[in-house]
Amino acid sequence: MRDIRHFVNGQALTRTSGRFGDIYNPNTGEVQARVQLATADELDAAVQAAAAAHPAWAATNPQRRARVMFEFKRLVEANMQDLAELLSSEHGKVVADSKGDVQRGLEVIEFACGIPHVLKGEYTEGAGPGIDVYSMRQSLGVVAGITPFNFPAMIPMWMFGVAIAVGNTFILKPSEKDPSVPVRLGELMMEAGANLGMDLKGVLNVVHGDKVSVDAILQHPDIKAVSFVGSSDIAHYVYSQGTLAGKRVQAMGGAKNHGIIMPDADMDQVVKDLSGAAFGSAGERCMALPVVVPVGKKTADELRERMVAEIETLKVGISSDAEAQYGPVVSAAHRQKIADYIQIGQDEGAELVVDGRDFKLQGYEKGFFIGPSFFDGVKPGMKTYHEEIFGPVLQMVRAESFEEAVDLPSKHQYGNGVAIFTRSGRAAREFAARVQVGMVGINVPIPVPVAYHTFGGWKRSAFGDTNQHGMEGLKFWTKVKTVTARWPEGDTEDSAFVIPTMR
Ligand code: NAD
Repeated sequence: MRDIRHFVNGQALTRTSGRFGDIYNPNTGEVQARVQLATADELDAAVQAAAAAHPAWAATNPQRRARVMFEFKRLVEANMQDLAELLSSEHGKVVADSKGDVQRGLEVIEFACGIPHVLKGEYTEGAGPGIDVYSMRQSLGVVAGITPFNFPAMIPMWMFGVAIAVGNTFILKPSEKDPSVPVRLGELMMEAGANLGMDLKGVLNVVHGDKVSVDAILQHPDIKAVSFVGSSDIAHYVYSQGTLAGKRVQAMGGAKNHGIIMPDADMDQVVKDLSGAAFGSAGERCMALPVVVPVGKKTADELRERMVAEIETLKVGISSDAEAQYGPVVSAAHRQKIADYIQIGQDEGAELVVDGRDFKLQGYEKGFFIGPSFFDGVKPGMKTYHEEIFGPVLQMVRAESFEEAVDLPSKHQYGNGVAIFTRSGRAAREFAARVQVGMVGINVPIPVPVAYHTFGGWKRSAFGDTNQHGMEGLKFWTKVKTVTARWPEGDTEDSAFVIPTMR
């Protein structure tokens, strides 16, 4: 059986704790490989490699670091098909969707290609008599990223793209469920350096693992900053433990995004957008739209009828099936969790209009497939509404007014994304201004911001005060140093015992 190893100092780490996790093929349900699970000792080997690489990498001029990013982008593009197939084979999402996963990560690499420009500091000439003040952004040192299973290419690139470009050296701890693409990204980064005559060993390391490795990251004194993306309870744990250990931490958590459908919305477009956003990637997206809020009975009744018809057209298939809209979910346990939530929803009194639990794909009966499900009559207060399901389940919560529609996502525990569908600029503008959610779409179902803006939710969807990528990413991965400089011409001034001020 294939072993997926840690990638440390430019090569596979042969030393092993003997702890391994199984990697499944979600299409067949079979174990296809095993992955090393790091101990504190293996993590330490990666930290040492990253620490040794940091001085030379930080001293590499920004333009050369940008050239590495350009070359890395070229290599990832050249390997797009292989990366997407590898990603699909462990995650289960269809190959076209895996290409999107890689592409959205590459867009952050494109932002990182411009790092010499955005890294420029500030300068004030003559802040006082003969005094100039300037500030610069410097790298932190060895930093780490801990990522979830659902975007094994994009989310690592959100983090290391910016972190490395500004001069840090990086340890990536990807999800132990689909770790192969992160390793390939590490290899391609080394190749990018080699193609430019640069040795990048230790600049990007990949350490696999579970809670043990995460705790080792949080406790390691030489790791200066940790970026985390995953579920909210673990995000909160990482944020509290990491900050307690004196690290800079940002931790993005779970989501339950609402789509508000105003009576004047273009219903043809709504049905298509909702179908893709609720069921695409089997609902395993933090920016999926699992809750739909039609405003008014007429809107709700029409939407319900058309959604049921649309769901009937959906094709669920294996991840390499080019005709399939979505594939299996990531694991048998996750499939069961989704099925359990559907049962809870029924028990709570919501109306299960379409039940996807019995779906079986012929020839792949042991795969982790689940059909699309659709609930009507979901209400605040229900556990299935309050919690994240992270599967192909669409829940309809009927609202009587615009006010109620603003309130629902605003009062929900999560505040990652939200979308409003309307033809009224006034309603959209008011909604965007008032809703208590971090990312808002106006007739855009999945409002993931472009790479040069930033990504981040509110409430229990994010802990910490900086977002991912864009200028917020730059801030997170650097520290500011401010220099106040004077070049006296030989006159000695008296000692000053009061705080110096600029007169
Ligand atoms: P997860 O929380 O189970 O795992 C995330 C990371 O934490 C993984 O690297 C995992 O190895 C590690 N981990 C798992 N258990 C741990 C523990 N007990 N202690 C410490 N670390 C642990 O999340 P997942 O299932 O891989 O991903 C899905 C979740 O991620 C969903 O909740 C989804 O909404 C969220 N997500 C959020 C965003 C965002 O930007 N807000 C983006 C993508 C996914």
